[in-house]
Amino acid sequence: MTAPALADRAEERAALTAMVRDFTRKHITPVVEDLDATERFPEEIYEAMGRLGLFGITIPEDHGGAGGQTADYVAVMEELAYGYASIADQCGLVELVTSLISLHGSNEQVTSYIPGLVSGQMRCSYALTEASAGSDLGGLKTNARRDGSDWILNGEKIYIHNAPVADVAMVLAVTDPTKGKRGGMSMFLVDVEQPGVERAYREKKMGQKASPVGGFIFTDVRLPASAMLGDEGTGFGAVLSVLEKGRLGIGALANGISRAALDTAREHALERRQFGQPIAGFQAVAFQLADMATEHRAARLLLEDAAAQLDQAKSAGPACSMAKLYASEAAIRNTGRAVQILGGAGYIRGVPAERLYRDARITTIYEGTSEVQRLIISRSLIA
Ligand SMILES: Cc1cc2nc3c(=O)[nH]c(=O)nc-3n(C[C@H](O)[C@H](O)[C@H](O)COP(=O)(O)OP(=O)(O)OC[C@H]3O[C@@H](n4cnc5c(N)ncnc54)[C@H](O)[C@@H]3O)c2cc1C
Repeated sequence: MTAPALADRAEERAALTAMVRDFTRKHITPVVEDLDATERFPEEIYEAMGRLGLFGITIPEDHGGAGGQTADYVAVMEELAYGYASIADQCGLVELVTSLISLHGSNEQVTSYIPGLVSGQMRCSYALTEASAGSDLGGLKTNARRDGSDWILNGEKIYIHNAPVADVAMVLAVTDPTKGKRGGMSMFLVDVEQPGVERAYREKKMGQKASPVGGFIFTDVRLPASAMLGDEGTGFGAVLSVLEKGRLGIGALANGISRAALDTAREHALERRQFGQPIAGFQAVAFQLADMATEHRAARLLLEDAAAQLDQAKSAGPACSMAKLYASEAAIRNTGRAVQILGGAGYIRGVPAERLYRDARITTIYEGTSEVQRLIISRSLIA
């Protein structure tokens, strides 16, 4: 089965999940420690994912996507991240950028970008964050001013996934400084290989080492009017339109890390013998495994529930925030438990538990920090 055959029936989702699990076992797991050590972009896996139809899962088929539901996307993200979070990162990025183009783009943008992105021929970035604008995009300084029918883009983005390798970047910029986030910001599709665009640097990160992250510097980049996504002033609204899907994607990614942590800890606990017995026989260890399995399951159910709400109602802010908050914090707890169960081995490079611990850490920060998720949830309770 390939992703274009997706539908909302449970058996078909189970078949999709099984296909991605098989892909992960054959193509990701064997190279994950090498990718972590070398930090190279996983080119061959990226292209294979495109061939298999694992990009653009929720994009309508007539826009070149797989026509699936958010629940399919969530299932795929967990399976890919079980193999390696940096691979799931790529699936998530393409999902967000193609969703934005599909929802708000012109026919020309749909046909120019979506086929290349979902087939794995093209790489993208989603560039919002700046030195003065993290959790609060109100601090955005990157701006575009009109010059005839063109726009001239200036500014600097930081911490951007794929900035070192992208072909195209979706860039949020201020187009009317007299207006606020709503009305004053616009989104642009920027071909990265053009005069005035500089890839600033590549960050050295704690984890998810095969996800290249860096900055863009835009200096008088001339953009045609056709580079704008949607209408002038709709950029912040576009960000909001994919926020919930993005949060579920990262929640599912975190939950894949959680499950990998459980499996590696369980395997070790059954094999490792101390005091004449497998350490799994000590209740202190076995109960940690019980907590890990419970937290993974709880996160899965929150994610599935939020995805179902999003698929039905198109908006499910608090449910998506709860799922992202819980799954990401559970991933940090579970990878910590895995390191503890592995003992000294859990602290050694090349041992999966050590990598999972590092890979999990960012999941409570990007795509909205835990504090931001708690703000959204609490506002829904007391508004
Ligand atoms: C590896 C990595 C990949 C990334 N990829 C991308 C990408 O592809 N594209 C992109 O645009 N960005 C990306 N980012 C940026 C990321 O989204 C931001 O780092 C994140 O949104 C947090 O912003 P900040 O770092 O400026 O932290 P800040 O917003 O400065 O927050 C610092 C602390 O203050 C807390 N805080 C802030 N406001 C409040 C509040 N109102 N109430 C309570 N607490 C608050 C936060 O929760 C946090 O604990 C990436 C970052 C990293 C590290």
